[in-house]
Amino acid sequence: MKTITTVAEIRAALLEPKRAGQTIGLVPTMGAFHEGHLSLMRRARAQCDVVVVSLFVNPSQFNDPADLAAYPREAERDASLAGAIGVDHLFAPAVEEVYPPGFATTVAVAGLTETLEGRHRGRAHFDGVSTVVTKLFNMVGPDVAYFGQKDAQQALVIRRLVRDLDLPVRIEVCPTIREPDGLALSSRNARLSPDDRARAAALHRALDAVQQAVTAGERDPAPARLAALAALRAAQIEPEYFELVSTHTLAPVERIDGEVLAVVAAHLGATRLIDNQLIHPSPIPDREVATLMTAAPTAA
Ligand code: AMP
Repeated sequence: MKTITTVAEIRAALLEPKRAGQTIGLVPTMGAFHEGHLSLMRRARAQCDVVVVSLFVNPSQFNDPADLAAYPREAERDASLAGAIGVDHLFAPAVEEVYPPGFATTVAVAGLTETLEGRHRGRAHFDGVSTVVTKLFNMVGPDVAYFGQKDAQQALVIRRLVRDLDLPVRIEVCPTIREPDGLALSSRNARLSPDDRARAAALHRALDAVQQAVTAGERDPAPARLAALAALRAAQIEPEYFELVSTHTLAPVERIDGEVLAVVAAHLGATRLIDNQLIHPSPIPDREVATLMTAAPTAA
């Protein structure tokens, strides 16, 4: 596997495979790889002729400078993990390569970005994500790009962006990989104190509590949400938000008649964690659920 740091080089490396009609898969990441990242790379490896993993800690999507400064950077370890999976190119541009002097353009998706993470992290967060993902798509020109359901709102925003700007790329959303106690893998988990790490499993218990309530016949989101809040409170967690929202619009649902998304964000110590789970009146396995996430939404 080669590590490539410039746009000119990645384009040159992909020119021949593209001419030969080979499919290019892109996995955009910010590094500090864990099994969540590796699952996306494995899927790309299984489906595409050429696999590119981008590694770029995008400053413009961080609303908190301390979070950016503390973000783990493990380039050598990442390169060996990606190499072992059979990734062809690790594209790791410097900040100046992505944002040269004079950079003045922002890609902003309206609507979907104004709630949940957008509301709590500020509009610059999704503007940063949308802009850098558009740039990565233009730099690499992938046929397929792989994202995790762990960041469900981000995946929906990128789908919207791809449709709105007619970007010729297919977006695949892959299931969330979890620790044995249910905690979603995240590069930020390493920053949790042992006590906070133990409490963090309550996020998943809270999401499960919603599914349990719904499986038991609850269709009103308010009591289902209260069951989740009780699970959080038992671990002394006061969430930033815990909502039951539409999988298409992210607006709060008034009734749980079909599939809905339960979403949570919470601070544990200085670390902010997010998680989500698709809730269905008749539960179906994660993999099938993720397939539903990949289907084109019917409503904007
Ligand atoms: P990040 O490096 O945190 O920006 O994540 C890069 C990609 O990996 C994003 O599409 C994330 O949604 C995805 N990802 C992060 N954590 C997980 C996880 N636990 N399971 C599956 N995908 C994940």
